[in-house]
Amino acid sequence: MSADCIFCSIVDGDIPARTVHETDDVLAFLDANPLAPGHTLVIPKAHAQHVGDLDDDLASDLFAAVTELTPRVQAAVDAEGANVGINDGEAAGQEVPHVHVHVIPRFEGDGGAPLHAVGG
Ligand code: C5P
Repeated sequence: MSADCIFCSIVDGDIPARTVHETDDVLAFLDANPLAPGHTLVIPKAHAQHVGDLDDDLASDLFAAVTELTPRVQAAVDAEGANVGINDGEAAGQEVPHVHVHVIPRFEGDGGAPLHAVGG
């Protein structure tokens, strides 16, 4: 855990979050400022800032949670698709320095941009 990391505080229960999935190593909760209904963040419980800091087992557990959760999140809000992605590093828009995978439900005609639109 990192002392001043907001997601570590969520893992420790010091900051409330709406948990949707939890294992020994991974936590998923609803984003506090959702870009779409059901916007979910999936994080490793252990503190790591960058995806490259994750060891193979933790990376595998994290992705397993993402693959399990993405269709469930979509179904929960009747979405037709989802953007699944990580902002890795400040230059990429990472605001919280604790690895988190965004699962953002998408709806036909919702006007949002695809991930490959980044950078125009
Ligand atoms: O990828 P990035 O670091 O920009 O995303 C951080 C995400 O964490 C934002 O979507 C923000 O709404 C979310 N957040 C949250 N709960 C907090 C602080 C940030 O869900 N207490």
